[in-house]
Amino acid sequence: MTPLDLLSLTSDAFVLEAKARLERGAGRAREVYRRTVTTGRFAPEEAGLSKEASDAYRAAFRFELPKVIDVRKEETPLGVTAKAVLGLDDGYEIECVFIPMGRGRHTLCISSEVGCKMGCTFCETARLGLIRKLSTAEILGQLVVARHELGWNFKNVVFMGMGEALDNYESVVRALRVMNDPGGLAIAQDYVTICTVGHAEAVRRLAGEGFKRLNLSVSLNAANDALRRELMPIHKRYDLEALKAALAEYRPRPNFVLGVNYCLLPGMNDAREDARDVARFCAPLGRVLVNVIPYNPGNVPLTRAPTDEEVDRFIGWLRDEGLPVRRRITKGRSVMAACGQLGNVELRERRRALPLAR
Ligand code: SF4
Repeated sequence: MTPLDLLSLTSDAFVLEAKARLERGAGRAREVYRRTVTTGRFAPEEAGLSKEASDAYRAAFRFELPKVIDVRKEETPLGVTAKAVLGLDDGYEIECVFIPMGRGRHTLCISSEVGCKMGCTFCETARLGLIRKLSTAEILGQLVVARHELGWNFKNVVFMGMGEALDNYESVVRALRVMNDPGGLAIAQDYVTICTVGHAEAVRRLAGEGFKRLNLSVSLNAANDALRRELMPIHKRYDLEALKAALAEYRPRPNFVLGVNYCLLPGMNDAREDARDVARFCAPLGRVLVNVIPYNPGNVPLTRAPTDEEVDRFIGWLRDEGLPVRRRITKGRSVMAACGQLGNVELRERRRALPLAR
């Protein structure tokens, strides 16, 4: 019998599997599951089971977490930003980032893939290419390690680390269901955001999954076709019209607010006309909130970081166009934990030595 990943299952699915796989002790399955995901320890004995029944659980289910390889921290005005490098069992590494949001609240930014195939020109992860997609258990392992091994007390989760979340659709959607399960991790959809580079087809598919409270944001970065084609290869597959049409249809609830992320690249997408283009793109999309993210230069910078004056000027233009705007404060730049900076040089080197994508 091949052990099943406990973290790939909701509590209900775990109970069903326990009944099917175990001769005794399945009556405690719900408690075993709850304790495991809320403590980060797979110890069926602690749910009152005998050694024999506990061993049967361990033979039927796996609970393996990514290993913490390195943690780097940076002080920011809002608190400490920390990036953890986590090792997977095949030797590859992923990264997740603990981000202070002010008033004592934190967000955990997690990865969905090792590397990424989307090729966004401003992004460090793109330089790795796609090495492989993460399983549901690997995606959720980041949450469990962050909370129970690193002691990171986060409230929000964003899929904005390495990889395009909607490119790993099945594993990510399953992770959302497991994450939301009140009998387990119990992270409500209101606190979870999927960020996509603009995978229009997958946005339509996501709309049919029934996640009424889930948040969605799109990395726009350019609202005219010529520039977006240059910056983001996904544009060849889904141009701005196709993306806009899919986003306009995405209305999971009446008060839904679409996040529109705009990485500000000085001299490239920060002109007055660019702000007008953003407004034109957003006009048919209902309520939006534009997040302006100052560009974080990686190891091979596309351009420099914008000055505060340049960021403020662009935000002013967006507001003149009637758009609600929030400036994303740069956090973690010195430890390569800021937006677009995940994916390290060592991993690129190791890619040559390890097996290729599953
Ligand atoms: S910005 Fe996101 S989608 Fe684009 S290459 Fe980087 S990780 Fe991939």
